[in-house]
Amino acid sequence: MYHLIYVGIDDTDSSSGMCTTYLCAVVMDELKDYGFPIIGYPRLIRLNPFARFKTRGNGAVSFKVLVKSYEEFETVKNIILNRVKQLSHLKEENTNPGVVFYKVKMDDYNLDLDDLDSKLVLPSVLEDYSQNTVRNMVTIEDAERIADSIGAEIYKFKKGRGIIGALAAIGCPLDDSTFELLAYRMPVNYGTKRRIKYETVLEMDQNTYPCTFDNLDEEEGYVAIEPHTPCPILYGIRGETSDCVKKAQSMVKSCEPIERTAIFITNQHTDQHLKKISQISKMDKFKCYIVKGEVAENPHIIEGGHVILKLYDDSGSIECAAYEPTKGFREIFKQLIKGDLIVVYGGIGEKGTLNVEKFKIVKLANAYDAINPLCSCGKRMKSAGKNKGFKCPKCGRKIKDNHKILLEVKRNLKEGFYDVPPSARRHLSKPLIRCQIGKKD
Ligand SMILES: [Zn+2]
Repeated sequence: MYHLIYVGIDDTDSSSGMCTTYLCAVVMDELKDYGFPIIGYPRLIRLNPFARFKTRGNGAVSFKVLVKSYEEFETVKNIILNRVKQLSHLKEENTNPGVVFYKVKMDDYNLDLDDLDSKLVLPSVLEDYSQNTVRNMVTIEDAERIADSIGAEIYKFKKGRGIIGALAAIGCPLDDSTFELLAYRMPVNYGTKRRIKYETVLEMDQNTYPCTFDNLDEEEGYVAIEPHTPCPILYGIRGETSDCVKKAQSMVKSCEPIERTAIFITNQHTDQHLKKISQISKMDKFKCYIVKGEVAENPHIIEGGHVILKLYDDSGSIECAAYEPTKGFREIFKQLIKGDLIVVYGGIGEKGTLNVEKFKIVKLANAYDAINPLCSCGKRMKSAGKNKGFKCPKCGRKIKDNHKILLEVKRNLKEGFYDVPPSARRHLSKPLIRCQIGKKD
């Protein structure tokens, strides 16, 4: 009797290293060595970036493995749990790994392995739960309840918070998806400067963009495929298909050996975390939205270089921010004015401020400069003092009317979308290039 085992893993890493994707790659390679077939691509599922407890990138992984007997299932479980125990950063307080196994009997399915992936259907209660972990907040108890209701086995290390993501990585619906190819370093090189030949990344980008994307941050002048943490990843190439990320890897050269490579199918760059909502007053902290509103007052800059504006609709208002790391994006955001009608995309943090990931200008308000009136002699008049009207410096003529003349000025912005640079993009955020090449909005 064949069984398909869904395996979910999360929260094995810490800020000082490891990466749950790497652990997943190691475990899958090990299972293959034992002769267990891995079905389809492993998944890398990014969860709500505004959830209060999260791992570094808030990403969980899952994969599927086929077993023929109860004994084989036990062997698979032991291999995986031992590796998680061995490679997780268990000494770090905030690392609380969780592993979930969900077993599906295969007699309902025709065992054509290549075609299997598309035939699999998961319980809707699991899909709903998973969608919730991407957009909202869920608890360990929620995860335990769902796992129990579908008969999934959970394994908690320490507090076991990782079961939340592990279960979500198994059940997350992927209506839209992208791929990420991850190349891992030899452990001896961890923590050292990555030795990627940057000119080959430029060449790869020229040959594969936009099927691959976010390879470079041209505005900020850096290579975006390279992480800036001590993790095992040498580089990650993001793209629309597994073929194009493979092709891209063949073009990127490095001066250090690659230990192994894994390709994940992922909800990264799909905007799956965002929920369209029609009223500002109905938004909650720690959740992510697409919301339309009018700019209530011109933006202002606060300490640290963050640009803030207030957005309102009939139901209420919310503070929106383009934070300092979004760099040049702030210059555009700053040019919005009172009366502009915009749609903002982003999540709400602890203090109730919406972090803008991108925005769309629906309608620009007219902008005016207030200037003094012209005198009948042709000279621009000057103020005659507060509330005293204007006086001509040339002929001395006076008028009592205090009103300045409003002169319409050209706006530098155009209607349409504006996006943060790759260096500041959240894993889940859909870059404009993906919106433009006809993917679902
Ligand atoms: Zn005059």
